Amino acid sequence: MSKDYEVLLYYKYVPIEDPEQFTKDELMYCKSIGLRGRILISSEGINGTVSGPKEVTKKYMDHMHSMDKFSDLWFKIDEADDYAHKKMFVRHRDEIVSLKLEDDVDPLETTGHHLEPEQFREAMQDDDTVIIDTRNDYEYELGHFKNAINPDIHAFRELPQWLQDNKEKFMDKKVLVYCTGGVRCEKLSGYLVREGIGKEIGQLYGGIENYSQNEETKGDLWEGKMYVFDERISVPINRVNPTVIGVDHFDGTPCERYINCGNPECNRQILASEENQEKYLGGCCHECRVHPRNRYVKARGWSTEEVKERLAAIGEELPDGVEA
Ligand SMILES: [Zn+2]
Repeated sequence: MSKDYEVLLYYKYVPIEDPEQFTKDELMYCKSIGLRGRILISSEGINGTVSGPKEVTKKYMDHMHSMDKFSDLWFKIDEADDYAHKKMFVRHRDEIVSLKLEDDVDPLETTGHHLEPEQFREAMQDDDTVIIDTRNDYEYELGHFKNAINPDIHAFRELPQWLQDNKEKFMDKKVLVYCTGGVRCEKLSGYLVREGIGKEIGQLYGGIENYSQNEETKGDLWEGKMYVFDERISVPINRVNPTVIGVDHFDGTPCERYINCGNPECNRQILASEENQEKYLGGCCHECRVHPRNRYVKARGWSTEEVKERLAAIGEELPDGVEA
């Protein structure tokens, strides 16, 4: 049963001259063919996720492959029912993943061993090995490799500091790192190599996406789903023995539904059922629930009286002087 749309995930570290001009040209081209998604371009390379009808994604892949620099660009392809993005963005950045090191790492010079999915699966089962999830906390919560360590970071650029703070635990171990499509690990594993953290560094080539599609591994040893940065929000990975590990922020029951906290100043991503989202006024905590700009309350059009009643039902009340 083949679907009509595709989502492409890709990156390549390769020097790009005049990345600003290339960014403008690519934006114009992508829009002209009806592609949507998000592409980051820098002098160090390209990192993108885009979607569209199959004839459009095919056109885009041909376009990229026609350039010498990108003739070998590896597109990880996922079929989809629709566009996975609302708009087309092509942006120029200092880095194609934001690690913001004072002394940057060039993954073309320094990086961890690229492990194919089968090799990665084998390496994960070695007792002398630690597996570090290089993604953010909300990505880990929905799904991760069995026994992987969660650094509990909110943004990728926080990871180097976490590694420095915890390096004693990894010094005499083999270290494995993984991320969605592989781009974050190119630089991060290079950082581990340079800093001498871990006695051997391996990175999952092509990321979780490739591990899921690989016919040998079929996503084996992955627990839960994978968070993706597009309209789909999550995708299945394990095709051998899929499980649910996400839990509802409010009551701890199994849940894979993401919401943003209704407080625009918090905006935290949490897992919650529709019922609990309503019960807890769309806010992750009391402070967010009673925030005067709580979007969830505004969208419902609840009166102050109604908000008070709803808060009372969960044993909370509006602070003095606050109107909903
Ligand atoms: Zn909140």
